[in-house]
Amino acid sequence: MQTVIQTTNLSKSYGTTSVLRNIDLTIHEGELTAIMGPSGSGKSTLMNVLSTIDRLSGGDVILEGKSLLDMKKQAARQFRQERIGFIFQDYNLLDTLTAKENILLPLSLRRFKSEEMERRLAPIVQALNIEGTLEKYPNELSGGQKQRVASARAIITNPAIVFADEPTGALDSRSATQLLEQLVSLNETFRTTILMVTHDGYAASYCKRVIFLRDGSIVNEIYAGEQTRQQFYDRILDNQSLLGGKRR
Ligand code: ADP
Repeated sequence: MQTVIQTTNLSKSYGTTSVLRNIDLTIHEGELTAIMGPSGSGKSTLMNVLSTIDRLSGGDVILEGKSLLDMKKQAARQFRQERIGFIFQDYNLLDTLTAKENILLPLSLRRFKSEEMERRLAPIVQALNIEGTLEKYPNELSGGQKQRVASARAIITNPAIVFADEPTGALDSRSATQLLEQLVSLNETFRTTILMVTHDGYAASYCKRVIFLRDGSIVNEIYAGEQTRQQFYDRILDNQSLLGGKRR
């Protein structure tokens, strides 16, 4: 299994405030992982550092074999654009573009040929069941549809990893379940590596591995293994209550 992300002794401070402490984390290709932790535990900061948006303060992050310490700003930006996909809680779709144009945007910015764009689009559209949305504008779509379009946009570049920040946070429970099932299906069909940040044990229970953060440190990690989703969910909740703190 290829290693997509490896951190050693990763730390991040803002001024004198230490936000991430000595994080050792390895993410392999094809993994579907959730990061959980109470509010303020460092989840967003960790995601921002791993996705090259924010600089680290100590230790190192190796992304597909390349050290973040060696990457200049421009190289980090290029890596981010070419190798990382993002799914945000509030979708971040452009209102003036159709769903299809939104999905293809990362490729059209890189001047891909239209045949190549169509070739990549077809299996993703099928997997996410969004044929009917392609010519519509975001304001004509439901939350669930918007998030599926955003997911298609995140994977159209064949990224090394997709970071999903509370992807179900704005969805009703039925749409959330659908989206989670589809993220699992993308993970299984295209072997997309997904790292999801969530405070929601239900969303995390769809992942195969859950990492718990507290006060900027990894305090526990559990794997679904052969458990049913319900059993894994119960274990996640047990771990959450052991960790204490607010759920958000
Ligand atoms: P979470 O996503 O788990 O809620 P965050 O990563 O957002 O946690 O924040 C972790 C801690 O870092 C919090 O105490 C927060 O106040 C602090 N923090 C986050 N970003 C900044 C910043 N830009 N400047 C100073 N402190 C920050």
